[in-house]
Order: sequence, then structure tokens, then C-alpha cells
Amino acid sequence: MPDIHSEIDVLLKRLFPICRSITGDGNRETLRILREIIPLEIIEYPSGQEVFDWTIPDEWNIRDAWIKNAKGQKIIDFKSCNLHVMCYSEFINKTLSFSELKSHLFFNKELPDAVPYRTSYYKKDWAFCLSFSEFQKHFKVNESYEVFIDSEFKKGSLSVGELLLPGKSKKEFLISTYICHPSLANDNLSGVVLAAMLAKELSKKELNFSYRFVFCPETIGAVAYCFNNQEEMKAIDAGFVVTTVGGPGNFACKRSFNKEHYINAIVNKAFADCDISGFDSYPFDPHGSDERQYSSQGFRINTTSICKDKYYEYPYYHTSLDNLDFVSAEEISKTLDVYKNAIKHIEKLAFYKSSKPNCEVMLSKHDMYPAGGGDWRPVFGGMTELDLILWLLFYCDGNMPLIKVAQILKVSEKELTVIALALENKGLLIKL
Ligand code: ZN
Repeated sequence: MPDIHSEIDVLLKRLFPICRSITGDGNRETLRILREIIPLEIIEYPSGQEVFDWTIPDEWNIRDAWIKNAKGQKIIDFKSCNLHVMCYSEFINKTLSFSELKSHLFFNKELPDAVPYRTSYYKKDWAFCLSFSEFQKHFKVNESYEVFIDSEFKKGSLSVGELLLPGKSKKEFLISTYICHPSLANDNLSGVVLAAMLAKELSKKELNFSYRFVFCPETIGAVAYCFNNQEEMKAIDAGFVVTTVGGPGNFACKRSFNKEHYINAIVNKAFADCDISGFDSYPFDPHGSDERQYSSQGFRINTTSICKDKYYEYPYYHTSLDNLDFVSAEEISKTLDVYKNAIKHIEKLAFYKSSKPNCEVMLSKHDMYPAGGGDWRPVFGGMTELDLILWLLFYCDGNMPLIKVAQILKVSEKELTVIALALENKGLLIKL
């Protein structure tokens, strides 16, 4: 087994059994384990903090939970599978009749051997999740059951892992993944492990650009992170949400909200580098993962995801069958290669920003107005030098790389670079 596979495999096996949710000790333990391989900073946002339209909920921890039948036998046991308890279930210790218990039992008849994954973060409730086979085997209409969930809510905090990898340029890219799912392998332990391996790899390199890695609980964690890092996040133009990257099925990509954004072209190149042509492409929509937060009006980060067995699309999604038999280090490593190639292409990008964005620059004052009032002969693929100067000053806002400007103008990046350098020498463009 190649080294990278065994490293991924060890991490998968250590992290899989931990009971994670949107808050709690399981998340901290997960981040602490990740800190053994990358220098994550663990940030705690307090319960009750208002973050935009949301409030960070009380911290939830669970020690034990089970259902016993009338003979005192444990028929459902949280310790054998942490999906058995709905996340954020409140404490209960009661004997209930079958009819009282029934509405608190979730199963999925379509997948009779799978335990479904359920949460109730913002409505106080409790429930058990079990396979339909377990339901049929253990539960009878006239029986009563002893039900125990040893969980607690407290004023605590929500934990987020952050790693900033500085490059030569302060221009930053976001790589975010979510740590809130309990023992589910593809969604999203695979994403957590891939993001950690990618961070480890990048931290060994001299980077042209800076990278911000965020390991947070989905939705509330990303909202809290954006709230607490507004200036930094608003300065980021593109990034990735790393999710569901380790299944045996198809590669997929969810496009960013602006499908013309260069990040989407970079993903295509990265797939091509890995000789992957048959990947599924999904347009942006305001469902999915934390691209919802990062793409919102206030932030507008073009966020894309490269997946393998994308969430929503595989039958074991959000069930106990999304386990370590479904996901493998080899599959995660394949997706990691696509991500590494995407970063390789990002590292080659050239970004410029106009030093005089307000109205037109007086080119003649800067000796950039082509001699004799302008050489109007088209020389650069149908464009005059003056055309290219004006378009560069128009497009270079710090977020559009030269390669994209070149694509729009249908000229080569090389030709454009010569003019961009001339504008930089005159102090009219600033390289980021
Ligand atoms: Zn999920």
C-alpha cells in the first residue's frame, strides 16, 4: 500500500468512530487528531453568540443511550453505532409503551439494513434511528420499552479548525470542509481527511498564493466563521468546499454560482490532468453544503466542489452503510490528486489590480498612449495595443486572472502578460 494510502487509512479508522455534531467534545477530539498532522488553530465561538441571522446553540454532548425491552435486554445501543441517536436529542430516562415510542423511531424501509442519520438542532426533541430489520425484529405493539439518552446541553462553544498557509501573494483561496457528521464515511469524513492531507502537502511547499483551510460544522459553523472573519472572507474570490470525495462511484463537480468563473475552468483542467473525462457536472444551486454561505450576497466567493459519489447521489447517503466498507483510502487519494492539480493551476494564475480604478486613466500622462495618437492596426489577434491596454485596465480588478482576460479577448496570455508588465512598470496595475 503506498504511504499516502496507509496514512489516509489510519486517519479514517481513528476518526470514524468519533461522535461528532455541530458542537461538542467529538468535534474537538477530531480537530485535535487533525492537529497531529497539520498545525490547526482551534477556535471556539461561544454558545449564544449571534452570528448574522443565526445564534450559536448550546453545546451538546452525549455519553450513552439505549433502548431495553421488557426482559431488560439492550435492543438498540448508541455505543455500537452513534447514528442510533438523533443528533441533539435531549435527555430521557423513561419506560414507554410502543405507541408512545413509535413516533420517536426512525428507519428507512427502502434500505432495510441501514440506520438513517437524523438531526434536530433547533427543535428540542429526542429520537432513535434504527434499521427497518431491527425495528421488525425487536419491536412489538403491546410491549413497553425502557428508553435512556444520557445527553446534556450546556453553555459551551462551537469549535472550528483554521489553518492559514501564507504564500508570496496575500491573495487567498478558501478550502473549507465540514466536521459535523458522526460515523459517516463519505459524507463527510472523506472530505475532512482529504482537506487535511491537502493542507499537509501544501504546507511543505513555497506557495505563490495564500490558502485558508476551515474545518467547521456545516451551516452554523460556516455562518459563525464568516461572521467572525468578515473582512478576510469578503476579500476571497474563489475556493472549494471539500465534501464526499471517497466513494467507489463517479467523480462529480458542483460548479460555482458564476459558471464563467475561472475556478470552474481550473476544475476541468484538473480532471483532464488526471485523465478523468466522464465526471458529472452539477450547476450551482442554493442547496448543498457551505457554498451556500460563502456564495451569499455579502461574500460572493465562487465556491466549487470536486466529489466522488457526490452527496444526495449515492444510495447510502446519510445512512450507516456510508461506512469504511464504502469509502477507501485509494478513492480518496484519487480525488486528492484532482484537488492537487487544481491547486497547481491556481498557483500559475496571475492577478493584477488597477491602481486607479476610478474613471479612466489618462494614458498619455503615463506614456502609455500608443505613439502618434495610437497605432490602430490590429496586431494582437485582431486587437490593437491600445485595445489591450484599455481592456486590461477594465478587467483587472484583482479577481480576474490574466488567463481569463486572455480567454475573453481571444488573445494569448503571453501577449497580454507583456502589456500587463508594462502597465505594472508604470504603476497603473498592481500585481497581487
Ligand atoms: Zn450530510
